[in-house]
Amino acid sequence: MIDNHVHLDLINDSISNIVDRAKKAGITQFVVPGICGFPQKLDELQKFSEIKICWGIYPKYAEDEELIEKEIKKLKASSLGIYAIGECGLDKRFPNLDKQIHLFKKQLNIALEMNKPIIIHLVGHWQKAYELIKEAPEKPDFILHSWSGSAQMAKEFLKLGGKISLSASALRTPKKLRELLDIVPNDRLLFETDSPDQKPDFVSTEQNEPANLPRIIEKIRKMRNEK
Ligand SMILES: [Zn+2]
Repeated sequence: MIDNHVHLDLINDSISNIVDRAKKAGITQFVVPGICGFPQKLDELQKFSEIKICWGIYPKYAEDEELIEKEIKKLKASSLGIYAIGECGLDKRFPNLDKQIHLFKKQLNIALEMNKPIIIHLVGHWQKAYELIKEAPEKPDFILHSWSGSAQMAKEFLKLGGKISLSASALRTPKKLRELLDIVPNDRLLFETDSPDQKPDFVSTEQNEPANLPRIIEKIRKMRNEK
């Protein structure tokens, strides 16, 4: 079982403790996105072969051109074999959509250049993101993480070859989730915790963590069968 989106570096515990608990729960791989270039605690993350490290810049930083250039330089100078570009994308909660688009396009191009998949974060601006991927010179492999858009919009992204990744947040809108499960084929459906965020309702601890993934998957699968 793979946790397809987990910020191991942002969970308030040691990486080895978190990984140990997750392994006991049956998690075999962890995809760790970057939000400001590489993830933090990079040395520790690299010690685990189960951890897939990504590089990406979150739309929140779209206005900070100096930081963006600095992190791109670090990526290009690094010999670390990254798994994917991301997380990057568009988010209506942050200002300056033009700069967000600029940063997203830049990372689409990096993904194509490096021949890596891209992990996309979208809160609103679904149509715009769709157009940007559609207009890209080539289509990268892409994953829409913690999907919160409509089934209709998901269908359009699926036509472009995308995969949809669901976290516990999808369980908060059951009707929308059932519509989505109707149209996403199994081989395009991924699961993630997005820890430490997106804490499932059934968890009483302060933070979310990858060990919660089996129960999240079980609950989502149940929604599919409940119809
Ligand atoms: Zn994330």
